[in-house]
Amino acid sequence: MERDKHFREAGGDFRWDGVDVHAYKDDGSAPFKDITRQTLFNSDTMAAELRYFEVAPGGYSTLERHEHVHAVMILRGKGRCLVGDEVREIGHLDLVSIPPMHWHQFRAAPDEPLGFLCMVDRQRDRPQLPDARDFAELRSNPDIAAFLGEE
Ligand code: MN
Repeated sequence: MERDKHFREAGGDFRWDGVDVHAYKDDGSAPFKDITRQTLFNSDTMAAELRYFEVAPGGYSTLERHEHVHAVMILRGKGRCLVGDEVREIGHLDLVSIPPMHWHQFRAAPDEPLGFLCMVDRQRDRPQLPDARDFAELRSNPDIAAFLGEE
C-alpha cells in the first residue's frame, strides 16, 4: 500500500485508489474460498488497522479463533456469520463483534457477495484452526452443522 497519501478516491465496485487487492491469506495456511483483502488504513502511528474483505457468492472465510478481536461492519451484500455458538444472517450496515477465542466464520449468500470492513489490532496472535475434536463439538450444534454444510 502506498504511504503518506491523504486522499484515496473510491474507484467503484468497492475498490480504492492505490489500494491493492490481495488474496485473503497469502500463505495458503488455512482453508477459505473466494475472498479478497484490501488494507484501507495501516499506519505505525495507530494500534489498529482497517481492512475490507469481500467474499464472492458461495465463498467463505477461514473458520478460526484467536485472542485478538474483530470489529466488523457489513458494507455489501449479505450472508451468514458464526460467532461462538451463534449463527446469524448478516447484511448491509450490520455490526459484528468477535470476542477473544470465539470460533468465527463469514459466508456469503449463494447469489450475492459479502463485503465487510474489519478493524483489528496491528500486532496480533496467529489464528488457531479447529482440529477434529473442535469440529465434532461445533457440529454437535445443529445450527452450526447446517452453517458449515458439507466441508
Ligand atoms: Mn479472525
